[in-house]
Amino acid sequence: MGALFLLRMPKKSSRRPSDPERFGALSTSPSCFQKIDGMEQYICRFEARCAQVRAELAECLEGYRSEGLKRAVLSPFDLVAQNSTQPNRNVLRAKEGKTSSVPPLPPPHFHYDVPQVFRRNLIASYTPATRTIDMGQGMDPGVRPMDMLYAIHEVRHVEQDNDVRTQWRNNPQAMQNYKNFLNGKGVLDGGKKIIQTNEVGTYALELRLNHLIFKHRLSLMKGMLADNSAVRQYLQYEQILDRFPAFREDTDEIPPAFISWLRTMMSENGYDIYDYTDNGVEIVYRRLENR
Ligand SMILES: [Zn+2]
Repeated sequence: MGALFLLRMPKKSSRRPSDPERFGALSTSPSCFQKIDGMEQYICRFEARCAQVRAELAECLEGYRSEGLKRAVLSPFDLVAQNSTQPNRNVLRAKEGKTSSVPPLPPPHFHYDVPQVFRRNLIASYTPATRTIDMGQGMDPGVRPMDMLYAIHEVRHVEQDNDVRTQWRNNPQAMQNYKNFLNGKGVLDGGKKIIQTNEVGTYALELRLNHLIFKHRLSLMKGMLADNSAVRQYLQYEQILDRFPAFREDTDEIPPAFISWLRTMMSENGYDIYDYTDNGVEIVYRRLENR
């Protein structure tokens, strides 16, 4: 359930903002992720940038009528702020002095990690079973605007996980269904799996954020324009926005055609696609047919 590489440019290790003086060079080296303080600075930089972007977004969204849109756009940034008070969000701090594995933080909190070895083709991912956002080593979401959007995509997945755990906390059967799904019971072995509804929500968020950042000339825009690969990525988003203009509008509705388009893209990228039925009494996961 990691971020798809779907809409993304290949991530090269040489990628840098072209104006490091103004936008901050990648100040992280792989060794920094093995030290608690290095990780702490990395996380704090991301959180500080999120607070800044959240304030800018809230201001530009004042003129919008759709409360659902405002909530959808702002809530991941609020979750980052909520999580910032939890010292063990830094997985290295949580692991300090422990030999056994670190238990997941209960909602709303979650871990950040920058693992030494990361699954191929992923630049960031969220693992609900451990409640951890993993960032690729070349990623610096407190500095690079596109990396920030990819990280926010994963934060939205944390929200989705929080919602399930909160909604079903008094229903052992539903929680068991969820945990079985996360642990791979009753699903295809070894396949890359993805929940359609969740990805629709996260990609819709990315598209809306891109639109808002450029339309309202938020500070992230300057950083994007200073980075060639970010510009290419932005142009890709623009093509998708041209195709689904609802994401530029004052609404939180998601066009049905976007759902089927995304599903086709996910299938073509080799994902096994699942979705869930929630009838208020239980939650059941099922695999969707490939298209
Ligand atoms: Zn995702």
